Amino acid sequence: MKATYDYLIVGAGLFGAVFAHEATRRGKRCLVVDKRPHAGGNIYCREMDGIQVHYYGAHIFHTDNRRVWDYVNRFVTFNRFTNSPLANFEGRLYNLPFNMNTFYQLWGTRTPEEARARIEQERAPYAGIAEPRNLEEQALKLGGRDIYERLIKGYTEKQWGRAATELPAFIIRRLPFRFTFDNNYFNDRYQGIPEGGYNALIDALLSECEVRLGTDYFAHRAELDALSDAVLFTGCIDEYFEYCFGRLEYRSLRFDHRVLETDNFQGNAVVNYTERSIPYTRIIEHKHFAFGTQPTTVVTYEYPDDFAPGKEPYYPVNDERNSRIYDRYRTLADNCVDVLFGGRLAQYTYADMDDTVEAALRLSEEVLR
Ligand code: FAD
Ligand code: UDP
Repeated sequence: MKATYDYLIVGAGLFGAVFAHEATRRGKRCLVVDKRPHAGGNIYCREMDGIQVHYYGAHIFHTDNRRVWDYVNRFVTFNRFTNSPLANFEGRLYNLPFNMNTFYQLWGTRTPEEARARIEQERAPYAGIAEPRNLEEQALKLGGRDIYERLIKGYTEKQWGRAATELPAFIIRRLPFRFTFDNNYFNDRYQGIPEGGYNALIDALLSECEVRLGTDYFAHRAELDALSDAVLFTGCIDEYFEYCFGRLEYRSLRFDHRVLETDNFQGNAVVNYTERSIPYTRIIEHKHFAFGTQPTTVVTYEYPDDFAPGKEPYYPVNDERNSRIYDRYRTLADNCVDVLFGGRLAQYTYADMDDTVEAALRLSEEVLR
């Protein structure tokens, strides 16, 4: 007997939504389920005091991929926001990424020549490190002690919950230095925030699909599987296979959203706090993503958090142990019939939104021919 749906899509995040849209427009019947009470996954925005709040952390769309940029622009209009975060260390402000403004603030260097000479001097004591054994050695070799101690060490140790000497070097294999006065955090050609927030994008993608929110796949697995011919699963891969090879590790985050009775709290969308003794890593002021003029403001303090069952898995810990476990799950996944796996949780990877859209488009082209 033919099932009610061609695809059951587990997860109404960006990956699930793009795949659902592509399948529906090719005539497939799709049911999308999500355990959260809203669609959008981590790009979901909640309106507070007339401001679109990035509820699960600041999201800036940036890409060099023309096809992805054209694709998302079919559904929403992007504003001209450019991410130019600041770092606050011991009360002094520094521009990011590391550029001529930062070098001037650190050392008073005024020209590229002066800045290059100063960085060479900073690196010189660490030139003997041939193969950095950890993140600290890597950072010192690339930028020297001053940049490391003011702008990297505290932030990184808070973010990952470990000493920099116990973190793998690959996390900061490259530290881009820009010898121009350019505070744009990204090098990509296209960048912006959807007007009206990210929900506008997700709602447009899902407009023709049936969506059931507040529905945990694992609580209704047999019943949901029976409804469809095939499944796209975008949740945690270890949970799908009932943790048979053990649990994958994550870093979690805690967000403290606050409405403040001022029209402008910090004058910038993102300010990082790079000292170890301050427990949060950054403060986000959401109205600046949209050049808002509301009389109040909403800020979010972002606290790194240890992961435990029941908490949200935000950052995969792609070290050797976890990569080995993931490979074993991947092999099981590759051998599943009529089940597709996609998205950051099923692929145990950190993927920016543009990579997520590209991956979902590729999968749809592959399987929906
Ligand atoms: P998700 O958004 O996680 O969606 C998965 C969905 O599956 C969730 O809604 C979840 O509830 C649902 N689900 C899971 N298990 C089940 C189940 N058992 N039953 C039902 N539903 C289930 N990218 C950028 O390009 N720019 C940025 O500035 C940026 N900032 C980021 C900041 C943070 C803090 C984080 C964590 C990520 C950031 N990203 C950014 C990456 C971006 O969030 C991802 O690319 C994108 O959200 C991935 O979409 P997804 O659908 O794969 O995953
Ligand atoms: N980082 C840092 N200082 C900062 C910002 C970032 O040392 O002020 C390092 C840190 O190790 C972090 C990594 O760069 O884990 C990536 O940070 P980014 O803000 O680019 O990514 P996100 O955490 O937003 O995904």
